[in-house]
Amino acid sequence: MSRAPGAGTRVFALLGEPVEHSLSPAIQNAALRAAGRDGVYVALRCDARAMSGLLEGLARAGGGGNVTLPHKQAAAETVDRRTEAVTRTGACNTFWLEGSTVWGDNTDVEGLRRAASDFLPHPLAGRRVLLLGAGGAARAALSVLVDEAADEVVVWNRTVERAHELAERLGGGRTRVVPDREALRGERFDLVLNATRLGLEPSDPLPLDPGTDVETGALLDLVYRPGGTALVRRARELGLSANDGREMLLHQGAAAYERWWGEPAPLAAMREALSTATGGR
Ligand code: NAP
Repeated sequence: MSRAPGAGTRVFALLGEPVEHSLSPAIQNAALRAAGRDGVYVALRCDARAMSGLLEGLARAGGGGNVTLPHKQAAAETVDRRTEAVTRTGACNTFWLEGSTVWGDNTDVEGLRRAASDFLPHPLAGRRVLLLGAGGAARAALSVLVDEAADEVVVWNRTVERAHELAERLGGGRTRVVPDREALRGERFDLVLNATRLGLEPSDPLPLDPGTDVETGALLDLVYRPGGTALVRRARELGLSANDGREMLLHQGAAAYERWWGEPAPLAAMREALSTATGGR
């Protein structure tokens, strides 16, 4: 069911810079239509100063939204109350009002947890995982890996100091940092998780070659782009089970919908909208 916006319509927005290529409006508006909810979701390009005013105003007007690069850390400082995921990762990607309190969550954490659990044939508990990257997505990933009791997480990042900071902040006792990719030679993993931004552009090199640099059973790329990523194509060529970041995107959006509307998200409609927007698999 689709309804025309009116005085009672709840307004949700994605706040970031840039936001033009975001798939969230397509996914969230499909969810609103499927659930027959009186809401609308738009993307608003804004700088950091405008972001905090918009976040507060949208929430207090009864709506909410998402925050993307480069404002996730600033959003974590803007909200009144933080979920544990925000406190741990220092990043907020979802906000809404409860009573008179503006809440912030980081649904990238829940999104990756659900995507990994659907994708892997076995639980993460007891598995060896190679995590590539040490930025915001890697923080969400390491939270999940530690929570789910991965046996050992090895972190590689271009800037090794950031990998050490990540491991110290979130890694518990089961995380090890390698200084460079050469140090990975001969290592065997159950899963490689790419949380670098390599793969966003078609001209990007692979962050690592799953055929020669390491041995792994599966590969999950957090990056997504229309037509898929080169890393996932390479892994599949090698016969590995591999997925890109679209399922994580879908599930972080579903978790956000649940915070806003207090009901399960219409996942099938959201997945179909995502598939249409990215030209399928
Ligand atoms: P970020 O905080 O800016 O971190 C970027 C990461 O990429 C850092 O580890 C950085 O290493 C690394 N990197 C950048 N350029 C590189 C290069 N030329 N060679 C090697 N490493 C390089 O970004 P983020 O928020 O973590 O996002 C990372 C990726 O995850 C993005 O592509 C984003 O779209 C994706 N993501 C997907 C989802 C989803 O729902 N699927 C959610 C969040 C993010 P340095 O520390 O050395 O700079």
